[in-house]
Amino acid sequence: MDKETQIKLNEYLGEMNLTTARKIYGRLAEEANQNRLSYEKYLLSVLEQERLERHKRRKERLLKESRLPLEKNMDTFDIKRLPRKITTQINTLSAGAFIDQKENILVFGNPGSGKTHLVCALGQALIDSGRKIYFTTCALLLQELLLAKKELKLPRLLKKISRYDVIIIDDIGYVQQEKEEMEVLFTLLADRYERGSVMITSNLPFSKWEKIFKDPVMTAAAIDRIIHHSVILELNISSYRMNQAKMRM
Ligand code: ADP
Ligand code: MG
Repeated sequence: MDKETQIKLNEYLGEMNLTTARKIYGRLAEEANQNRLSYEKYLLSVLEQERLERHKRRKERLLKESRLPLEKNMDTFDIKRLPRKITTQINTLSAGAFIDQKENILVFGNPGSGKTHLVCALGQALIDSGRKIYFTTCALLLQELLLAKKELKLPRLLKKISRYDVIIIDDIGYVQQEKEEMEVLFTLLADRYERGSVMITSNLPFSKWEKIFKDPVMTAAAIDRIIHHSVILELNISSYRMNQAKMRM
């Protein structure tokens, strides 16, 4: 290849952000020559590498932004612990159609039953197919919402959150919250209603949610919005931690 061609190619590929292609087109061209590949096959091999690298980078970015704990994924999750019906549901949910329907996922179960691990693993599976996920504990989310409200930045925070396909709120109702905190949570859920998916985990069944939202009217309104389009997973199984401890005894 002559110098002028090389300079222009590098410049144009850089300009169009085809950085992987810029790095590899020369080497692949030599290989294509040796293997007598057609022009089309050569172009395809360059673009395939560019595409692969882009997907990888996007996935890394989404994972980082999601704040999901990386070690809680499908590979480390023993799905066979769960009842068959739930396993089937999880497989369906991993495909992500519920996101397009703006459906919510509610995971109930006693402490240690694997709620957090399950929603995190699902979150990572969804990132694999390019979805934007935001993971937070309920307590942390409330802190963020309240701070934003105090600084008159609540609309901005809600807008930022609304850009995610799924918000995972772990452990709703675990810590007793003040009424004002629950009001901002309600604002978020109302804002999200029919506009985006929420995944919620809780140790408390709906019948005890009045403890969370304090006010009966607000409790009813919150439950009503959350369950309107939702899939409920009940992990009525023993604690994983407890079983592990027993096995060691
Ligand atoms: P919960 O949120 O319901 O209290 P966690 O998801 O935090 O439960 O699970 C408790 C611990 O047990 C975590 O360390 C988690 O990784 C592990 N664990 C729970 N269920 C499973 C499972 N099915 N396979 C592998 N590890 C599990
Ligand atoms: Mg948990």
